[in-house]
Amino acid sequence: MDVRKVGIIGAGHMGTGIAHVCALAGYDVLLKDVSSEVVEHALATINGNMAKQVRKGRITEEQRRAALQKIHPVDTLEAFAECDLVMEAITESEEAKRRLFAELCPHLPPATIIGTNTSSLSITRLAASTDRPEKFMGIHFMNPAPLMELVELIRGIATSDETFHTVREFVISLGKTPAVAEDFPAFIVNRILLPMINEAIYTLYEGVGTVEAIDTAMKLGAHHPMGPLELADFIGLDTCLNLMQVLYEGLADSKYRPCPLLVKYVDAGWLGRKTKRGFYDYRGEKPVPTR
Ligand code: NAD
Repeated sequence: MDVRKVGIIGAGHMGTGIAHVCALAGYDVLLKDVSSEVVEHALATINGNMAKQVRKGRITEEQRRAALQKIHPVDTLEAFAECDLVMEAITESEEAKRRLFAELCPHLPPATIIGTNTSSLSITRLAASTDRPEKFMGIHFMNPAPLMELVELIRGIATSDETFHTVREFVISLGKTPAVAEDFPAFIVNRILLPMINEAIYTLYEGVGTVEAIDTAMKLGAHHPMGPLELADFIGLDTCLNLMQVLYEGLADSKYRPCPLLVKYVDAGWLGRKTKRGFYDYRGEKPVPTR
C-alpha cells in the first residue's frame, strides 16, 4: 500500500513539525486542531521555519512555496476519509486519545492506517480502542521533527506486517531513519535519555556538582551537544517527570524513581524554557543557573 495523503490531528509542537516534514517530502497534508486559530499559528510557524531552512541553503525557495501549498487546514474529522495515513499528535492523555479515536474511526475507510506520536502510552492499549488494531502503530517523531533524523517505530501486538512495512517505507521517504522498538514504557530513546537526565538532577540534589558544572562536564566530558539540565529545561520538566513516572510505574523498578528535586521544580511551576524558569532562569538576556 502507498501513502499519498497524510492527515495530522494536533497542530501543537509535534504536529507542526510532522506537517512540515511530510509537506517537504511532497505529501498532501490535512491538518486539524481544536480550533482554526491553532492551525493558523502552526502554518505561520512552518512558514517561518522553512524560511530559515531557505536562508541556510537547506531547501530552495521553490521547495518552500510548493510545500506550503501542500498543507490544508481542516476543521472536521470527516475530511480525513481521503487519507491513507492519519497521524495522531494531540495532547499526551490516554483518555483524550481514546476519545479522538472513537470519533475518528467511523469516518475512515478500512484501509487507512492510524499512527500515534505518543511518547509514553502503550501502543497495544491505544490500538485496542480503535476499530483497526492491525492498522495501528506508534510512529514516534523526535522533537524538533524537522531537524531530528530518527523516528521510532513501535508495533502493537496486533499490528500487521503490511502496516509496518508501509509505515517504514513512508518514514524512509521523509528522509528519516527508523529504529524499531518494542512496545515497552518510553521505547528506546526516552528509556535511556530520561534516566540520564534524572541522574543529573540527583547529582545536583546531592551537591556533587552545580548546574553549570554538571552541564559543562557532560558537554566537554561526554561530547553531548547540550548538558542534561539544559536539555531537561528544553524538554519541559513536567514532561521529564511524567516520563520518569511512566518508567517507574511501568517497569516497577526503584532505579527509575523520579528525583525529589525534579518534583519540587514541577510543583513550583518552574517547568523550564516554556515558563522561563527551570534549572536556568531565561528571563534575562542570557540563561542563569537557578542553583
Ligand atoms: P502540544 O501540547 O504542543 O500539542 C498538542 C495539540 O493537540 C494542541 O495544539 C491541542 O490543542 C491539540 N489537541 C488536543 N486535543 C485535540 C483533539 N481532540 N483534536 C485535535 N487537536 C487536539 O503537544 P506536543 O508536544 O506536540 O505532543 C503531542 C504528542 O507528541 C504527545 O503524544 C507527546 O507525547 C508526543 N511527543 C512529544 C514530544 C515533545 O518533545 N514535545 C516528542 C515526541 C513525542
